[in-house]
Amino acid sequence: MITQSAQPPLPFLTAGEGPPETARLASVTRRSVSPWIVRCQRCPDGEQFLSERPARRWAETHARHTRHAVRIEAPTGTDDVVSGENDQSHS
Ligand SMILES: [Zn+2]
Repeated sequence: MITQSAQPPLPFLTAGEGPPETARLASVTRRSVSPWIVRCQRCPDGEQFLSERPARRWAETHARHTRHAVRIEAPTGTDDVVSGENDQSHS
């Protein structure tokens, strides 16, 4: 018999709330504190952030200044790469 701590004892309620609870559990089970990790692929530079916005800003700033490609590792396991090589140079 499987007994979850926060499981409601009402079967008709449980049936409707299956998918959201599963998704929430999956993200929590991985690690308690999962930072956003930005890592330059060209130089040893890198940082860790607790949210996406500053991580992305760091990556974009570094990419723009150095023209390096910076990888952003999300807590969910999804990777993203910010490339500083924009071909929109004015001069
Ligand atoms: Zn770099």
